[in-house]
Amino acid sequence: ETTQLKDIVAHAKEYGFVFQSSEIYDGLAAVYDYGPNGVELKNNLKRLWWESMTQLHDNVVGIDAAIFMAPQTWEASGHIAGFNDPLIDNLDSKKRYRADVLLEEKAAEYENASDAARGAALTAEMGRLLTANDLAGVRQLILNEKILCPVSKTGNWTEVRQFNLMFSTQGSAVDSDAPPVYLRPETAQGIFVNFLNVQKSARMKVPFGIAQIGKAFRNEIVARQFIFRMREFEQMEMQFFVRPGTEGEWYDTWKAARRKFHEALGLPAAKLRFHDHDKLAHYAKAAVDIEYEFPFGFKEMEGIHSRGDFDLTQHQALSKKKQQYFDADIDPATGKAYGNYVPFVVETSVGADRLFLATLCNAYEEETITEGEGDAQTTKTRTVLRLHPAVAPVKAAIFPLVRKDGMPEKAQEIFNALKFDFRLVLEERDAIGKRYTRQDLIGTPFCIVVDGQTLEDNTVTVRHRDSREQTRMPISELKSYIGEAVSF
Ligand code: ATP
Repeated sequence: ETTQLKDIVAHAKEYGFVFQSSEIYDGLAAVYDYGPNGVELKNNLKRLWWESMTQLHDNVVGIDAAIFMAPQTWEASGHIAGFNDPLIDNLDSKKRYRADVLLEEKAAEYENASDAARGAALTAEMGRLLTANDLAGVRQLILNEKILCPVSKTGNWTEVRQFNLMFSTQGSAVDSDAPPVYLRPETAQGIFVNFLNVQKSARMKVPFGIAQIGKAFRNEIVARQFIFRMREFEQMEMQFFVRPGTEGEWYDTWKAARRKFHEALGLPAAKLRFHDHDKLAHYAKAAVDIEYEFPFGFKEMEGIHSRGDFDLTQHQALSKKKQQYFDADIDPATGKAYGNYVPFVVETSVGADRLFLATLCNAYEEETITEGEGDAQTTKTRTVLRLHPAVAPVKAAIFPLVRKDGMPEKAQEIFNALKFDFRLVLEERDAIGKRYTRQDLIGTPFCIVVDGQTLEDNTVTVRHRDSREQTRMPISELKSYIGEAVSF
């Protein structure tokens, strides 16, 4: 962990963005709760994703499927057989690690020491061994590379074994032999099993997409990067069903569209990059990650996958229910309708929590401010969250300059007039500078101050978070002014 991530974790707790789950009991590893400002920021991110999918695209509709699904779902999807992490224990420290992560970190070490070729060779070798499920080979690689336990600095490693990441729970209250029910490890399968329900009920024509936001659960081993890797998290996924043969174009289209979304949210282009997968998951024909440069390096934020007809074909085989679409469009090559087929799928999958973390990291700034001239010059630092106004938890704070002369009443009046359109706070306590500071810390783009002049001419000052500049404007213009700034 770099200092910067520590600062962000501390800030997130202190200002009500993210708390460790069950903190009074010393927490539960890799599980987190969102506080009053965090839930607003996260809801705003989810709403923008939802609108960008289902409102900006007339061929994408949404669903909200259950977390529990028939156990066969996970057999068909390949998760029971193949959703594993290779684990290794250190015998001295009794700590458990992901074997692939130990090797990844070693490869990164080589790369940082300007030995990129050696790093790349190690990554390639690890990929080859994992694909072949050669666990003894993975362990040998850890020994050859002389990788020590990060805690006890010994190389006393156990064998490597595969560990399934799915959580399960008792499936039936009456039948103790009933198979377990899993907590879904991805939201995608809820979309696949509803493919025909949605297609028919919403009268969708291929190509079309189904979007969903929901919780997913994975029994992850590595838990050192705050909300980057959680055991309970939220995914925003969209499965786009296309005619076989057209998946390449759609893959490129969604790849570009998704990157544009992140840039529109204010994530700088220089901190985003595509990373093509060399090692493909069991379902994928092509896969790319959109990575963000977190304080701990470039890491996956979103995955875009060309899944072919893998999922629908698997469900068709196991359920014995046809998962086909009849395409009445005419194929120019044959002059006949394309007819029945199992559509191919291009998927976009982004973690709401990882997008939240990227947004928070990008917004967080400790700024040095110089004030005054010559001998009277002073410098101070302020912490400010430069959030895109569209995602800021509070859009505007309203302050009566003093708690008398009718200013609090006027401020209340403005609050009541604007509260139907924006999430606001009204604050009377403390000096005005202190109140500005509190809003900077949570990323509120505007502070509206009611002063003596307001009572005479119905104008207020609007103080801008980023520039700290103030402008005077009529109360009647506030709604359109703020509305313009917070639109996406
Ligand atoms: P990683 O390689 O980091 O484990 P993944 O490739 O397994 O991620 P996917 O299965 O493609 O991830 O899931 C899609 C998205 O869901 C990821 O891009 C990420 O944003 C999010 N995600 C996956 N696992 C977690 C997790 N444990 N905590 C938070 N978000 C997650």
